[in-house]
Amino acid sequence: MSGSRRDFLKNGAALAAATAVLRNKSFAFETAGSTRLSQFEYGDVQLLDGPMLDQFHQNVSLFMSIPDDDLLKPFRQLVGLPAPGEDMGGWYSPSKDFNPPKNMTGYIPGHTFGQYMSGLARAYAVTGDKATQAKVHSLVEGFAPTAQAKFYEGYCLPCYTYDKTNCGLIDAHQFAGCPDALKVLDKATDAVMQWLPPKALNRDEMAARPHPNLAYTWDESYTLPENFYLAYQRGAGERYHKLAQRFLQDDTYFGPLSEGRNVLPGQHAYSHVNALSSAMQAYLTDGSEMHLRAAKNGFQFVLEQSYATGGWGPSESFRDPKSNDLVDSLHTTHASFETPCGAYGVFKIVRYLMRVTGESTYGDVMEAVLYNTILGAKPIRRDGISFYYSDYNNNAHKADYEQAWPCCSGTFPQIAADYGISSYFRSPRGVYVNLFVPSKVSWRQGSTRVSMTQETSYPYTNETSLKLKLDRSEKFAIALRVPSWAGSGTTIRVNGRPSGITAQAGSWATIEREWKDGDRIEYSIDMPLRVIPIDARHQNIVALLHGPVALFAIAPGDTTVTKAQLMAAQKSGPDWEVTGSSGKLRLKPFPAITNESYRLYHEV
Ligand SMILES: [Zn+2]
Repeated sequence: MSGSRRDFLKNGAALAAATAVLRNKSFAFETAGSTRLSQFEYGDVQLLDGPMLDQFHQNVSLFMSIPDDDLLKPFRQLVGLPAPGEDMGGWYSPSKDFNPPKNMTGYIPGHTFGQYMSGLARAYAVTGDKATQAKVHSLVEGFAPTAQAKFYEGYCLPCYTYDKTNCGLIDAHQFAGCPDALKVLDKATDAVMQWLPPKALNRDEMAARPHPNLAYTWDESYTLPENFYLAYQRGAGERYHKLAQRFLQDDTYFGPLSEGRNVLPGQHAYSHVNALSSAMQAYLTDGSEMHLRAAKNGFQFVLEQSYATGGWGPSESFRDPKSNDLVDSLHTTHASFETPCGAYGVFKIVRYLMRVTGESTYGDVMEAVLYNTILGAKPIRRDGISFYYSDYNNNAHKADYEQAWPCCSGTFPQIAADYGISSYFRSPRGVYVNLFVPSKVSWRQGSTRVSMTQETSYPYTNETSLKLKLDRSEKFAIALRVPSWAGSGTTIRVNGRPSGITAQAGSWATIEREWKDGDRIEYSIDMPLRVIPIDARHQNIVALLHGPVALFAIAPGDTTVTKAQLMAAQKSGPDWEVTGSSGKLRLKPFPAITNESYRLYHEV
C-alpha cells in the first residue's frame, strides 16, 4: 500500500484529494452514545491469502471492469441525457417488460450504483490502489448531472435507491477523498426530496397509499436513517441529522422492539435487520437508549428464528417463533436466506453491537454467517448473474438468481471490503481478535508501532498463530474471542509455553503483558461436534455442526440417522462421514458444495 500511496502523492492533481482524505480522518465525530470498542480504519487491516481475500479481489476486479457508461446508463436514460454504453439488464436497466411480481426485469433501474461505488471506495481505503480511487471519482463526476428529480418520476422505490446512492457518495467522500461527493449528495438529496414520504412507512402503510403497481408498496423508507446519520457525521450538514431523525420507524418498529415486543413476524427480513443499524446510529449519534434497546432486542429476535447456519428469513420474511414456519420452510421454499444482503446486514449490526457492548458472543454470530453462508456464495458473473438465496430445503441445490444485478450484487462488494475491519477491534487497552482469518493488523499502541500477523486455516483446523512485530517493547492487551461453543480443550500458548490464561467459552481471553518484537501466540480452539435443533419446539429436527461450521449431507437420498450417529461423525479427508442405520452420509461445509444436491436438517 505504501508504494502506491507514494505514487499517488507524487501526482500533483491528486494532492487536493489527498488532503481531503487527511482532513476527513481528523474529523473525528464525537459520539453521544458510549462505546467499549472501536473499529480499525480500512487500511489498518490487510487480508492475506485465503477465501476472504479471493472474494475481495473478485468483487473489486469485476466492478473495476464495468465501464462507467454502463453503470451510469439508467440514470442518464431516465433524465433524458445522452446515454452511451451497454444495457446491464436484469433489475438494473429500465424495461417495458417490468410487471411485478411476475416479471422483475427492469425492477429498480440504477438501484445498486451507490453500493458498487461504496464497495470500490472502501476497497481503495484498504489497498490504496490509485486506479480504484480514480474510478470512484469518475463515477461521482458522471453521476452528478443525473441527480435530478426527474429520475424518480414513475420510479417504484425512490427511498431504496436513494439510500444506496447516499451511501456510495458519503463513502466516496470519506474513503476515496472525492472532493465533490458531498456537493453531489446535496443535489441527489434535493432531487429525491419530493418523492420521500413524510415519515418511515411499513408495507401495510405503503399498501394503503395509491400505488400504480405492487412494487410501490415495497419501498424501504425505514432503512434511511443510518446513512443520513453517517452523512451528518461526515460533514454533510445538519439537514441530514434532521432527515435521519424523521425516518426512524419508532411507531411500529423501534418503539415496540425497545419494550421487548417481537414485531418481526411477517416483516421483510433483510431490510428490517438493516434497519437495526439505523437504531444503532440513533444511539451513537443522539445517545438514544431506547434505540439501543430496540436494536439489541430486535437482533435477539432474529437469532431466535435463525437456522443453524446463522441465516434467517425464509422467502425473505420473518416468522412467528411459535409457528411451524421454519420447519415447513424445509419443504416449501428454496429461498431460505438472502445471502449477500443478509450477511452484510449481520456483519454491520454485529460490528455496532460489539463496539457498544464489548460482548464477544456477537462475533460468534458473525463467524457462523461467514463460514456457512457468504463464503459459499458463488462469485457475481460479468453478465450480472449473482448468488442470492442459500437453500436449506430438504432437497437443496446452489442456484443462481434468474435476474441480473439484483440487490445481492450490491451488498457483496461491500461486505467483502468490510471483511478486514470486521476481524479486529481495539480499545485503549489493546486489540481484540474477533475473526480467525489470515490477515495482518497494524496500529499504534502508545508511541509504539505494532503489527500482528495471523496465520490460520480455521475453521478447518483448530490452530491459529499470531506473530507480533513491535518497534520496541510495550505493555498492552491482546484479547481473543473464545466462541460460546468452544470445548474445555481450548488453549493459549505464548512463545511456546502455556499462557496460564483460561479460555472461558463465550468471552474474551485477554493476555495482558509486556509484548516484545517476535512474540508469538498459538491459539487452539477445541471444536466439538454438536447438533442444533431447528427451533425450541422441534428438538427432533437437527443440523450437525463442527465448531462454527454447519455440515450439509450431500445427495442424502432417504438415509436416516440418529442423534448419536451424527455425534459420532468422522472426518474423512476434507469431508465428514456419518454411518446411519441404512448407509453412510457424506457431509460438507457450505463453501465446499458445488452442484451436488444436499440437505442441512435431519429428522432424528
Ligand atoms: Zn439481496
